[in-house]
Amino acid sequence: EGAVNRIAAGEVVERPASAVKELVENALDAGARRIAIEIADGGRTLIRVTDDGHGIAAADLPLALSRHATSKIDGSDLLNIRSFGFRGEALPSLGAVGRLTITSRAAGSAEAASIHVSGGRIDPPRPAALRAGTVVELRDLFHATPARLKFLRSERAETMAVTDAIRRLAMAEPGVAVTLRDVSDGGERVLFRADAADRAARLAAVLGRDFPENALEIAAERAGVRLGGLAALPTYSRGTAVHQYLFVNGRPVRDRMLTGALRGAYMDVLSKDRHAVAALFLDCDPVLVDVNVHPAKTEVRFRDAGAVRGLIVSGLRHALAEAGH
Ligand code: ADP
Ligand code: MG
Repeated sequence: EGAVNRIAAGEVVERPASAVKELVENALDAGARRIAIEIADGGRTLIRVTDDGHGIAAADLPLALSRHATSKIDGSDLLNIRSFGFRGEALPSLGAVGRLTITSRAAGSAEAASIHVSGGRIDPPRPAALRAGTVVELRDLFHATPARLKFLRSERAETMAVTDAIRRLAMAEPGVAVTLRDVSDGGERVLFRADAADRAARLAAVLGRDFPENALEIAAERAGVRLGGLAALPTYSRGTAVHQYLFVNGRPVRDRMLTGALRGAYMDVLSKDRHAVAALFLDCDPVLVDVNVHPAKTEVRFRDAGAVRGLIVSGLRHALAEAGH
């Protein structure tokens, strides 16, 4: 049973950044307005996510740790992809691959409780001290699966992957205040911080103050899919594609078709070794897109992929042409 759980867990949790993503998405699902993330050693020894969301009732803590018991898809909500979590897999997976402690105080509850799970073994919940919200602490990720530990990259690379995941989520949710700190060796280094803002201000905070003035506002629509956001002028391109941020119905995605479309849009105005900077938001009726292709939930499958590709290419080319490119 344990081995099966750990294999399934590996599907969801590939590295510290994927654990951080799941935990921050849970905080967002809980309506948090303020989320603080702390990591140590690239997230390998410690990931701690503190939120001010609605919390978990003490009686529900064991449920939150049991596989599929809590999936946010339950009939009524089948296609509600505004909520990030929908498989009820993240916490059980994290409890299988690390030492997980959840401390929470449900809104309106007089006291907090905490629960601990390690190697899939759940200790009974006990009383704890917490004013509000939830603190999820994951220590020693992959301690029980040395093979996975070996695949982790350097502390620096894992820290960068965590920071990138946080930047993407922060862009998706501008109204939520987010801080990411590296607390390795008892230190405290701020890796990312953004106050609550509107979307334009958040994009500038994350991508650079000079990004908006070097970018074109995009607004286009095709086959029921709306495209918005900012795409940089060719003069603001980079030597790497990491500054391409794509969101579908509010959630960050990484998807070949979408990045391919972005490349196609700039094909005539950028040389092969340059990459556009862009933050693009696609919104459509949830029935037109499947975001559940892979457990890590970053790939998407549109019902009409050709139309979406065309929307991005023509939407961006139109804006570039209007700006004289
Ligand atoms: P999912 O998000 O797919 O439902 P998870 O395993 O990520 O599954 O989380 C299990 C459940 O635990 C959630 O459905 C939610 O009820 C609860 N939960 C997890 N994290 C939080 C949090 N930060 N605040 C409030 N509830 C939470
Ligand atoms: Mg979740």
